[in-house]
Amino acid sequence: MTSTIEIDRLHKRYGTRIALHELDLAVRPGTVFGLIGPNGAGKTTTLRTLVDVIRPSSGSVRVLGVEPRLGGAALRRRIGYVPGELHLEGRSSGHRMLAFYAQVSGERDSAATLRTARELADRLGVDLSRSVRTLSKGNKQKIGLIQAFMHRPELLILDEPTSGLDPLVQREFLQMVREAKDAGQTVLLSSHVLSEIQQTADEVAVLANGRVVAEGDVASLRLGSIRRIRAEIAIPDAAAAAAAFDRVPGLTGLEVHPGDGTLQLAGTIEGAIDPFIKALAPFEVRDLTVEEPDLEESVLRLYGSAAASPAPDAESGAARGAASDVEPGAAAGAESGVASRSASRTDPATVQDAPPSRRARRARGDRR
Ligand code: ATP
Repeated sequence: MTSTIEIDRLHKRYGTRIALHELDLAVRPGTVFGLIGPNGAGKTTTLRTLVDVIRPSSGSVRVLGVEPRLGGAALRRRIGYVPGELHLEGRSSGHRMLAFYAQVSGERDSAATLRTARELADRLGVDLSRSVRTLSKGNKQKIGLIQAFMHRPELLILDEPTSGLDPLVQREFLQMVREAKDAGQTVLLSSHVLSEIQQTADEVAVLANGRVVAEGDVASLRLGSIRRIRAEIAIPDAAAAAAAFDRVPGLTGLEVHPGDGTLQLAGTIEGAIDPFIKALAPFEVRDLTVEEPDLEESVLRLYGSAAASPAPDAESGAARGAASDVEPGAAAGAESGVASRSASRTDPATVQDAPPSRRARRARGDRR
């Protein structure tokens, strides 16, 4: 079966900075594919290449069987795209803006498209009668989601689509993704948030420093098996408690702090949580929290420091300087089931500065 998205040895450099190193990825039709990775991993660069906002330095990309640079408006009509940074500043109302998008993209049935837009607006809770520039960041993001989904495209490419959305709206969005899949649409979404990928994606690729360091089906990816735990138990004897938790398999970095007749425990557990709960059971448990660590920490722990260390550059210490990302002529160590890609593949050229976060880049006024 032909893949909806085929990325073959995609290499992208911005000036001397290498953002993507010969990336290979394939997204099967009718599936939800999650691209996760820490800041600067190359997610946005990958997705922008797919919609011809930027062009590869080398390698090839095919989207719905077509090379994006040759696909033009006909290809873009088949895609719904939410960019990583959405700029909606127009004076027109959300409704007018969406009607305009429906019109310029040549929707055959723009009345049906706008009906869907209104339904989505109700579900997401955004007022389409307001001028878009007066909307909050989260409400602008909702307009971005609506314009991507409203024409029911064959392929949705969503770059951190839930950024700025409150948890209830995020849940509604995840439901929209499931419905899109049920309707046979293909979805590629990028995120920092592991749980939202876990809830929706069939397959996942973990990107770090422009390389796929692990990929596989969500269930077999071990990222979700690392959890940070904190507990408070009523026992004055720190040594006795520490001994009880010493033998818990997978528990690392245990810190024990005595309180007022209690002990505070904090650590990280990889794998089954049950042995830890059993070790807690003999004590009076006053408090217990179990949370997923941030993605960067998970990537680092599972795939080694090579995966999450600073981005390699083509030349040591090279500046990103004059690199522009919009090409002329362009449109605007894993377990079973997980292929661990290139965590061990190291690039001979390295640079010491860490990849800047999106916020840091914005603060520096970098062109995106
Ligand atoms: P985030 O989660 O922070 O958005 P990301 O995974 O989307 O990160 P990209 O934005 O694709 O990562 O960036 C990948 C690398 O390319 C980073 O090292 C980044 O600094 C660099 N980069 C991105 N855009 C440009 C640009 N216009 N000029 C120079 N370097 C860039």
